[in-house]
Amino acid sequence: MDGRALAARVREEVASDVAGMPQPRLATVLVGDDPASDLYIGLKHKAASEVGIDAVDQRLPAETSEAEVLDLVGRLNADDGVDGILVQSPLPPQIDEPRVMRALDPLKDVDGLHPLNAGLLYLGRPALVPATPLGVMALLAEYHVSLEGARAVVVGRSELVGKPVAQLLLQANATVTVCHSRTRDLGAETLAADVLVVAAGKAALVARDMVKVGSAVVDVGTNRTDAGLVGDVDPAAAERAALLTPVPGGVGPMTIAMLLANTVRAARNRRGEARFS
Ligand code: NAP
Repeated sequence: MDGRALAARVREEVASDVAGMPQPRLATVLVGDDPASDLYIGLKHKAASEVGIDAVDQRLPAETSEAEVLDLVGRLNADDGVDGILVQSPLPPQIDEPRVMRALDPLKDVDGLHPLNAGLLYLGRPALVPATPLGVMALLAEYHVSLEGARAVVVGRSELVGKPVAQLLLQANATVTVCHSRTRDLGAETLAADVLVVAAGKAALVARDMVKVGSAVVDVGTNRTDAGLVGDVDPAAAERAALLTPVPGGVGPMTIAMLLANTVRAARNRRGEARFS
């Protein structure tokens, strides 16, 4: 499954939406100097400017207090010119990350991490949904992967990826199993999956023979190794799966594209042009 090609199409659609509306503004907040976070923020800003979204880069030093971060979030919430706010994770240890997420205006929460947005997703009334799970679902739709009644297995239960993917698959009428680090026999679970989504952050966690023949496999994992960037699934799984996302070039580009789409969605909702369901 080619994430780069689909992401390019999504970005074109976003650019055409942006051209027909007052320019949306996305504010990103980066606390500290984690190199991976710096890279992700850079990619998001570049992608935003390419589609015509105004991206504002707010950076705070690593020793910033929680009160200062909350103060910045409060100011961005109150700024009518800001449509979307993204607080880059991880935050330094002195800052309670869930508390910062709770402080976001849910209508500007383009990462979909505020409890209200997480709760609406759980209730089957998605408003702003995390970008990576949206990207996973868009790839499955693009490749006409049938989810109705399918056995879907998600490896990972994070708030950013595993749990929201599981909710979206459930809403699409898949029969969903969520695996995690305490799962007793991971291979038995993955081998039964018609649709397998792996988001554990462990290189080669899913070996070739753990994948069902003819299945669709989405590899969310991004692991930096001596051999370069690799996913959580052994690429040899392509010999058994009908469809597999590459790493890089699969979910990664989709995440950024869906963040842009979420920013437009938030802007339209705020301006009353479209309402969240
Ligand atoms: P996370 O918060 O670290 O969660 C990892 C999950 O995997 C946890 O639920 C953990 O179980 C589970 N897990 C860990 N080891 C396992 C094992 N041996 N067997 C089964 N389950 C295991 O990570 P995340 O934020 O969800 O991200 C997951 C991966 O996706 C990372 O590599 C991350 O870099 C990547 N990612 C990529 C994108 C993208 O755009 N491509 C976006 C987001 C994340 P417990 O809950 O029991 O600890």
